[in-house]
Amino acid sequence: MIQLPIPDGGSPTVPYLCVSSTNEFRYTKGTPSAYRSSDHGERYFCPKCSSQIEARDDRRPDDVDILTVTLDDPNLAAPPTMHVCCERLPQWHRVEDGLMCHQGMPEL
Ligand SMILES: [Zn+2]
Repeated sequence: MIQLPIPDGGSPTVPYLCVSSTNEFRYTKGTPSAYRSSDHGERYFCPKCSSQIEARDDRRPDDVDILTVTLDDPNLAAPPTMHVCCERLPQWHRVEDGLMCHQGMPEL
């Protein structure tokens, strides 16, 4: 799992878990709302409360990035293993958990 800064998401970091969209993830109830947030990606939101649930990147069509804090039980997700895109963090945000802080997105 990675911690990704989302400047327009209202939080300096968001915990994501990348899984296969074909066999590791499915919705058991409801259908999310989609928003095309860039020329290469979409974000999906709860249509009732607007919480972001996941993101998909056209450059990685077999993956889905899930915001683990929106899972029914976030404790079932593995804890973060790295931080990415740290150049986008506000200067006042300190990363003090000892995990690697990558500028940009490393090859995963
Ligand atoms: Zn909701």
